[in-house]
Amino acid sequence: MKLLLMGPPGAGKGSQSKKLVEAYDLQSISTGEMFREAYKKGDPMGEKAMEYIRQGELVDDELTNRVVRERLSHERPDARFLLDGYPRTVNQARALDKILTEKGTRLTAVINIVVDKEVIIERMAGRRVCRQCAATYHTKFRPPRVENVCDACGGDLHQREDDKPASVRNRLNIYESKTRPIIDYYKGRGFLINIDGEQSFEKVFRDIQRALRDLT
Ligand code: ADP
Ligand code: AMP
Repeated sequence: MKLLLMGPPGAGKGSQSKKLVEAYDLQSISTGEMFREAYKKGDPMGEKAMEYIRQGELVDDELTNRVVRERLSHERPDARFLLDGYPRTVNQARALDKILTEKGTRLTAVINIVVDKEVIIERMAGRRVCRQCAATYHTKFRPPRVENVCDACGGDLHQREDDKPASVRNRLNIYESKTRPIIDYYKGRGFLINIDGEQSFEKVFRDIQRALRDLT
């Protein structure tokens, strides 16, 4: 099984990805996480990516495609994985097709989490992330047991630089102009599943599970 999780920033991709990875025994491949990890390690690739990320811009296609190609080069054609946050441009979607075709494989399904703009803004404003283990919380919808302390590892919670209001607006505009067109790209290929993301964490997950069951 090879899944792709799509949706605007703040739609709940990371939250659902965590559950899907466990339930279906998938490797999680998140380009956003890969960039943040590389930056934390002082890797020049991470430093370069962070220059874009801080501004709420997309990292350039050339670098992003290279990182994904390298990551997937270690995988066998039958590898089970979930891509979260990649592709984000039609150019990246084409690059991914090429990588998978070269391996003699293809995506199983593209899950598109649909959420309205107002909901996204509220979700991103309240998102808090653990500095240590990257677990995600929300001040209102998923608060930690102790304020600003990660339930999982006791680490500090913080607001991502790119979740500040100026950057959020930019990211939403970029989503509309560069990422939304991918939906049509996949619709044309017949593996697009739209999921209503404006429901509880559990209901969104159940809907995804049901849609995946219907595929088989
Ligand atoms: P993405 O990975 O798509 O950017 P996240 O999974 O990080 O989105 O979710 C963004 C924020 O919204 C987080 O703070 C998360 O806790 C919250 N969130 C995600 N899904 C839901 C939901 N179904 N209901 C309420 N809040 C949610
Ligand atoms: P995410 O964790 O998926 O919200 O990604 C955080 C940021 O990393 C995005 O706002 C982009 O700046 C950058 N990024 C992540 N994935 C990609 C991608 N596929 N293409 C370009 N930029 C990306």
